[in-house]
Amino acid sequence: MLYMSKILLRNKDIPNSQSLEVYTGRGGYNALRKALSLPQDDVISMVYESGLRGRGGAGFPAGAKWRMLTKYRVKTVYLICNADEGEPGTFKDRFIMEFDPHLLLEGMLITAYATGAHHGFIYIRGEYDWIAKILVKAIDEAQAHGFIGNNILGSSFSFFVDVFRGAGSYVCGEETALIESLEGKAGRPRLKPPFPAASGLYGDPTLIHNVTTLSYIPFIIGNGPDAFKSAGKAGSGGTHIFGISGHVNKPGIYEYPMGTTLRELIYEAAGGIRGGKHLKAVVPGGMSAPILKADEIDVSMDYQALNAIGTMLGSGGIVVLDEDTSIPMIAQKTAKFYAHESCGQCAPCREGTNMIKYLIDKIIAGEGTAKDIEQILRLCRYIRGSTICAFGIAATLPIAAMIKKFRNEFEALLRD
Ligand code: SF4
Repeated sequence: MLYMSKILLRNKDIPNSQSLEVYTGRGGYNALRKALSLPQDDVISMVYESGLRGRGGAGFPAGAKWRMLTKYRVKTVYLICNADEGEPGTFKDRFIMEFDPHLLLEGMLITAYATGAHHGFIYIRGEYDWIAKILVKAIDEAQAHGFIGNNILGSSFSFFVDVFRGAGSYVCGEETALIESLEGKAGRPRLKPPFPAASGLYGDPTLIHNVTTLSYIPFIIGNGPDAFKSAGKAGSGGTHIFGISGHVNKPGIYEYPMGTTLRELIYEAAGGIRGGKHLKAVVPGGMSAPILKADEIDVSMDYQALNAIGTMLGSGGIVVLDEDTSIPMIAQKTAKFYAHESCGQCAPCREGTNMIKYLIDKIIAGEGTAKDIEQILRLCRYIRGSTICAFGIAATLPIAAMIKKFRNEFEALLRD
């Protein structure tokens, strides 16, 4: 029997959950009070010991990121919440912001206190227009009650937050492209190093975390690192919000412990395949995660287990595909998306993604040859590792996996 966890979604179904009154009535902002009573290094140690890893996709340990910033406390430090959520198949952050905005704000406040930041930004994708308004209202409310502003809760800590709306570019989910966009420039990734911890927004040290990552902080500080760790499995502590979409009976968001199997998520949480059909394939972590076949779904949903079978947890966006799905058509949509979203700075990405799209279109039109399949795989290999940002990897891993695992479907479309 699968039991749903409620660390991040515990307030979601409570009436008027966005209000400060409901949030504080359910224990909200107590973790901030506790954090402010502790030395900053103790707060950092708690997050470090919890093993919390970034939930935006890369899975970098949050505590290690925080420790990088401790040497800059004398300088201006910025905190950015990445609420761009542009990965296809991903829709978890919007639920936290829409139904529990104070949870995110409390996470940002504790993070800012620990790392010495006094100004924060929530960079939210332009399509989330109504959520941006919810956030602004929550910030105003928190400020009016002394949770945001100067000398928060009578302490010497001051922090201000602004909401910044993006313009719908996928690549602005990459942290340096996001910073460029926040500075008012075109959202194109920077060459790294320097990393944002050393030189980020306006050249100052900057900490960037995804919405979900920041929203775990109040639980970790309020309940201790062990409570978080024990909610998951070794090396992948805590829970994860899985957004399940596609051909299932009950698409939606579900919070379960790390280590829950993909089969349990599809067949128990999401109610199985729509119309009683058979499962063909699953994208386990947002569109850039390599696809899995139906016989691979007993995998544990955690960082290590998914890496071991050649895919990744990514953003936790699970896309379920039934037996009637054409994988070449999925590859075509994927290639079209990445070709459109390339920022165009590096030739391998700019030209390569368009060439992959062209070749898949050609195969689907019945004009492809066996050489075209090989050429796509070659392009996927060449693009990876020869680009400024990880977009090159994100664009090619899923295409290569679709061809390798469902090659027969591509070959069936080739010109005789
Ligand atoms: Fe832009 Fe693509 Fe290069 Fe990233 S890899 S910087 S998205 S062209």
